[in-house]
Amino acid sequence: MKYNRILVRYGEISTKGRNRKKFTSQLRENILEALKDLPSISVNASRDRLHILLGEADGEEVITRLSSIFGIQSFSPVVMTGRDVDEMMEAGLALVQKSFEPGKTFKVSARRGDKTFHLDTNELNYQIGSYILKNMEDLTVDVRNPDIKLNVEVRKEGVYLSSEIYPGATGMPVGASGKAMLMLSGGIDSPVAGYLTMKRGVEVDAVHFHSPPFTSERAKQKVIDLSKKLSAFSGKVNLHIVPFTAIQQLIHDQVPENYTMTSTRRMMLRITDMIREKHEGLAIVTGESLGQVASQTLESMQAINDVTNTPVLRPLIAMDKLEIIDIAQKIDTHDISILPYEDCCTIFTPPAPKTRPKREKVQYYESFVNFDELILEAVEKTEIMQIDGSSHKEENFDELL
Ligand code: ATP
Ligand code: MG
Repeated sequence: MKYNRILVRYGEISTKGRNRKKFTSQLRENILEALKDLPSISVNASRDRLHILLGEADGEEVITRLSSIFGIQSFSPVVMTGRDVDEMMEAGLALVQKSFEPGKTFKVSARRGDKTFHLDTNELNYQIGSYILKNMEDLTVDVRNPDIKLNVEVRKEGVYLSSEIYPGATGMPVGASGKAMLMLSGGIDSPVAGYLTMKRGVEVDAVHFHSPPFTSERAKQKVIDLSKKLSAFSGKVNLHIVPFTAIQQLIHDQVPENYTMTSTRRMMLRITDMIREKHEGLAIVTGESLGQVASQTLESMQAINDVTNTPVLRPLIAMDKLEIIDIAQKIDTHDISILPYEDCCTIFTPPAPKTRPKREKVQYYESFVNFDELILEAVEKTEIMQIDGSSHKEENFDELL
């Protein structure tokens, strides 16, 4: 069975009044971007639907990729036949067989866009329905509440049949709500925070702090792999890798041990904010969840957040670890996150970091040291990698050598 097109329903974005046009064109762009390596795809958008014309492209592959694009409520692959009733019956049977399990019910729902067609809708329903029933066991008709609804639409140019409805990723199309910088560690939380932010339509750039030789190339590769997973939801992710060793060393040497963690986070936030400004982001995103660890008390957040007025989004703030892990598993980042490569913070974490740091104290400790130059240098030496979500087959050569 060859699908001819895929019908995409918008859901949430179709309710957004004035913004709808922008959302629709963003979604269209994102779909084209995600499918750009497939031959002969085109997309037509109308008021509340969008049609992907498949041409020679493989429908199953398109279905897989569509399921991770935000802004789609649901979608249905469509088979096109000629206006010959035998052809419709065969295609209808194949579609119903695809969704069938013993005991399921079905109905045929025909529509005529072209009223000159020689059968009316009742006759079409009857002919196609009885052919399917004759060829399948354990299938019954339920016209009120069928498990499988076979839609048949007769038009001048041909007949469109569909029965399957796939759930979309919901949310809003990425890019429709501006750009933010995600502080991406190698842990479980920050990738989930990035995913949830993207789901609200925000384009996400990742910023990672790397402290060689205290952190290894493998720890960096882990963050690249996480960015790759995230890019499946947005088409691409720019990953900024900040060389952080010198600053971390200086904090370690100059700030009292129980305040090093607070100070480290403040420096990270300052640098991220500068990178944000350079790349025209509007906010910063972290994976913080209230009460999870020492740095995630309200006092600590206040002391850290002190270095910027930029909005810091914390999508996980009220979530339990188990809820976060659940999402991490769903988006396939969990197994990468739990790989045991050290990140820059674990290495320098003091045995007893302050859980209620005072803003004035950390300001005071930092006042003896000039961090500005090192911060500028770190921003300047930040490496930018473009991680592309559509190149699904790219190999990780590090693993092969
Ligand atoms: P995660 O699972 O995201 O590492 P966590 O529970 O380990 O979170 P912390 O280590 O306290 O939390 O870090 C809090 C947040 O600070 C992270 O969610 C992340 O957004 C940011 N962060 C921590 N380390 C780094 C790093 N090396 N590079 C970039 N951001 C970081
Ligand atoms: Mg962490």
